[in-house]
Amino acid sequence: MIVRIPIKKELIRRRIPMNNQLCLRCGIQEETVDHVICGSTSSKSVWKKILVWLKIPTSTEFCGCREALEYVNDLTGSNEWKKVIRTVFQTTVWNIWKSRNEKEFEDKLRTSNDIVETIMADSFIWLKSRAKLNDIVWVRWTDFNIRDLVS
Ligand SMILES: [Zn+2]
Repeated sequence: MIVRIPIKKELIRRRIPMNNQLCLRCGIQEETVDHVICGSTSSKSVWKKILVWLKIPTSTEFCGCREALEYVNDLTGSNEWKKVIRTVFQTTVWNIWKSRNEKEFEDKLRTSNDIVETIMADSFIWLKSRAKLNDIVWVRWTDFNIRDLVS
C-alpha cells in the first residue's frame, strides 16, 4: 500500500553521496521517512489539526506512516467511515511528503494550515468522485459533518 520513498537515508545506503542526511526543517534529526511524515514538528502540527478536524482524540501521536494507517483499522466505526478516514490519512501522508519536496527542490516553505487546507481539498475531490459522499458540500466537509451519510 505504502510506496517506498527514496530519500537521503536510502540514497546514502545506496552510496549516492549527499551533503547531509539531516531533516531540512529542524536540522537536528536524521531525515527518515517516518521523521518527515510523523516525527517533525511541522508534520506533528499537521496531524494534530487533521485529527481535530476528523473529531478523533488529539492526544494521538504517530511514530510512522505504518502506525498511522494501522491506527485507522483499530478505530470504532463502519467500514465506509474508516474508508473516509483512511483516504484522509493517505492524503495527509502524501501532502506532507509533497511539501517536504517543495522545500527541498523549490525552497518553498508551506505553513501547516496551508497543508491542512490542501489535504481537505484533495480528499474532498477524491471522495466526491467515488464514495457515498458525492452529494456532500464543501462547508460540511470542512466541518467533517458526515455521520448521517457515513455512519
Ligand atoms: Zn526534523
